[in-house]
Amino acid sequence: MIELEEANQRILDALGSIGTETLALSDAATRVLVADISSPISLPAFDNSAMDGYAVRSVDAITGSRLRIIGEVPAGTVFEKEISKGEGVRVFTGSPIPAGANAVVMQEDTHADKETIEITDGVKPFEHIRLRGEDIKQGEVIGHAGEMVTSGRVALLGACGMTEVSVYRRPVIGLIATGDELKEPGAKLGPGEIFESNRLSLARLVEQTGAVPRIFPLVSDTLASTIEALEVAFSECDAVVTSGGVSVGEHDYVKEALERLGGSLDFWKVRIKPGKPFVYGQFDGKPLFGVPGNPVSAFVTFLTLVRPAIMKMTGATDTSLPSHPAKLVAPLVNRGDRRHFMRVYIDNGGSAHPVGLQASHALGSLGKANGLIDVPPETTLPEGVVLQVIRWSM
Ligand code: AMP
Ligand code: MG
Repeated sequence: MIELEEANQRILDALGSIGTETLALSDAATRVLVADISSPISLPAFDNSAMDGYAVRSVDAITGSRLRIIGEVPAGTVFEKEISKGEGVRVFTGSPIPAGANAVVMQEDTHADKETIEITDGVKPFEHIRLRGEDIKQGEVIGHAGEMVTSGRVALLGACGMTEVSVYRRPVIGLIATGDELKEPGAKLGPGEIFESNRLSLARLVEQTGAVPRIFPLVSDTLASTIEALEVAFSECDAVVTSGGVSVGEHDYVKEALERLGGSLDFWKVRIKPGKPFVYGQFDGKPLFGVPGNPVSAFVTFLTLVRPAIMKMTGATDTSLPSHPAKLVAPLVNRGDRRHFMRVYIDNGGSAHPVGLQASHALGSLGKANGLIDVPPETTLPEGVVLQVIRWSM
């Protein structure tokens, strides 16, 4: 049995990204940048007005003064002349500042008649002007290698004129569920049978990394069908995640199937709860992650062991789960000798609430949870303590 950190390190050391492609910026959201991108232009590209109002010389625009309006400059046009003493030009948000002006007086701070305005609140130099380059300077890095193209970054890249970006290919992650008792959701259940649910949760968690889940048919508990399922999945995917069949029972075939196929087992068993019997191996240079079948174990080992690996395969530099401090509203007790990742619900005020039964089959608590707390062995975390919670979605 190995520690979680060692398991993570061994997996991450063995994995890398899986190739690159150039995409239209509009298709690049959630992808990871291959190289640093420098902006070809400054933002703003020219001095412009932050307000609807009047471009003026600040020395003229003192409270009580009156200025002559010599024209207007709608956004998207340029004023051809230069303004002189005692003059102003009607501008709108985004209008380029006419030559000679160095401030904008807000419309609300003026009384206007046909040709003049009276200033009711004077301006200082550069007031209400968005200066060229104050946001982004030409040549500045607007996206680093290994960073994701987020919703905000896609807007930044677009505003800087980028139309294509070089990104990492999205790894395809095969999802296999093993177990004779499993039935597809919607099927008729016979005695002792249950609906399969791990491929559903894991597919969503895979999507959240930016990788592509591929769901394979249910696999029965025989060595032959497990070998065959792995062979097919490895031929179509960049990594394979199996659920179930990694314990010590006579019907647990994942490890043996991997080895029979010609793959290698790197380690089995990690000192965490839930999810001790986790398998990591390789076939054909591709990773196999064998998560336990219990739904909570599958979920937690995916987050703690598989997700960082898939993040690395997407090209991301930061493979860690998001986390933030939260305050426990009730104690969490771990009597066991392994650290226990307990499910909690974190509200918007930053309080972490218990969600009920913490057992590894307990889907009720998983359904309510939106975070995990890593509770050390033989430890009670008291009510009121503030500690880091791990998130997979906000
Ligand atoms: P296993 O890891 O195969 O020994 O399974 C452990 C427990 O998880 C058993 O109660 C299984 O019925 C259950 N289980 C296994 N796979 C799944 C699955 N894909 N969906 C829901 N429950 C499962
Ligand atoms: Mg099983």
